[in-house]
Amino acid sequence: MFKVISAKLVSFFIAITISLITVAFLSLIKSADVTILLVAGGISFASGFILIYYTLEFLIFREINKIYEVIGKIKKKHLRDFDTSVTEVKNSDNPLRTIKQEIVRYVSRKELEIDKLKKLEAYRREFIADVSHELKTPIFAAQGYILTLLDGAVDDDKVKYKFLRKAAKSLNNLDVLVQDLLTLSQLESGGITMKKDYFNLYHLVLEAVDQLEDKAQKKQIQTEIVAPDKDLIVYADYVRIMQVMLNLISNAIKYNKEKGKITIELENLEKSVRVTVTDTGIGIPAEHIDRIFERFYRVDKSRSKKQGGTGLGLSIVKHILENHNSKIKVTSVVGSGTSFSFKLKKRKEDAEKSKDND
Ligand code: ADP
Repeated sequence: MFKVISAKLVSFFIAITISLITVAFLSLIKSADVTILLVAGGISFASGFILIYYTLEFLIFREINKIYEVIGKIKKKHLRDFDTSVTEVKNSDNPLRTIKQEIVRYVSRKELEIDKLKKLEAYRREFIADVSHELKTPIFAAQGYILTLLDGAVDDDKVKYKFLRKAAKSLNNLDVLVQDLLTLSQLESGGITMKKDYFNLYHLVLEAVDQLEDKAQKKQIQTEIVAPDKDLIVYADYVRIMQVMLNLISNAIKYNKEKGKITIELENLEKSVRVTVTDTGIGIPAEHIDRIFERFYRVDKSRSKKQGGTGLGLSIVKHILENHNSKIKVTSVVGSGTSFSFKLKKRKEDAEKSKDND
């Protein structure tokens, strides 16, 4: 409606009314002749028109048109044209301007919510597709072995045990995958709260190395812990940091050469302890480095699968460390080896002591 009745038309009618009232009043004065009445009418019309037109245009119509523009964009779903940084409505003398700001603020908030939901939905769809794909491999393998046994292979003593062992291995891989998936989805949805406490990181590393010793020995890999200071009390979740260390060390074994070496260095820094796991393995090409923390990302798919890798280990590591306000760093040289490092916060009084020593 406001678009049809323009500011000019409204101003014209009001100015005409004012000038007619002025002329009517002046005509009551006996000395006022026609010329005076015409001049007075003209002046009151012109000044009335200019005053009303600019008042309407600047204070009301311009703002109303802007509101229409905003509503038009909302209707056409051109929500990206809005400034999403608008979070507060500034109090303006003009209530129409405040209304416009309110609309923009509301729409921007909704736009952010829609964006978030879209990203979540895309993530969910991609996750389901990835998971289904990954689950298929061990299920089909186990199914294949069992069906072959049922087809008659069960009568052949030689192949019977071989196929049963293979089926069991596939089901084992499936179990590891499901466990990793559960951990990752709980970490990503914020379903796992870190149970932080003080513990000696050196002891945790000793335990992790001990747990993986058999695996390392099978490839004749030598493991060394370098820790000039063995009293390294950190504030973290023991179980989760153990998971981080087991994942990093088992990768260092999996992707190492026969008779290779793994060094785990613990550095006592001012406020934290830095852990670095270095191997002498195949290394990671530079173009893959940024992607290895994505779930199911593998540089060499067949190598990872042959070693029983789920492609989720580093994603889990990244999430656990993020929950400790820490970040994992990686450096690698193809053919020479890879280093993963991260920091954990020290006990407060230990941090202050090392500060005094510095
Ligand atoms: P996976 O179960 O495949 O090992 P991860 O998430 O642990 O999954 O690692 C992702 C990929 O990063 C691996 O498939 C491998 O290609 C690469 N990678 C991880 N650690 C190392 C390492 N120490 N040396 C070389 N490549 C590695």
